[in-house]
Amino acid sequence: MNDQDKLFEALAPIWANALEGQRYNEAILIGVLSFLTFREVGHEKFGKEALTWLSMAIERIQGGEPDHDDPICSFCGRNESKDDLVAGNQAFICSSCSSTAREIFEARSKQPPPG
Ligand SMILES: [Zn+2]
Repeated sequence: MNDQDKLFEALAPIWANALEGQRYNEAILIGVLSFLTFREVGHEKFGKEALTWLSMAIERIQGGEPDHDDPICSFCGRNESKDDLVAGNQAFICSSCSSTAREIFEARSKQPPPG
């Protein structure tokens, strides 16, 4: 697992927490910093994901409270159709985030153990 994967894995739940906790300024800040960071290192996929984080936080500010009847992905916050979400104990994950997670796990499993 490379540094960008580690960073993304660390930032995603912080952002999701900020959004769910309605700390939108924090969510926007994380989105901006993540976008600039991943763009700087040329990681286009994570950069786009960070841009989504940013735009979702802005949408929440502009659109008011989310509709809690519709579950959202706990990782990216997108309001996917129910068919595209898998429910966990206290969270949902969308197909996009689950494939990102799978890529991270695969990359991690290919890395030699630290030491
Ligand atoms: Zn997601």
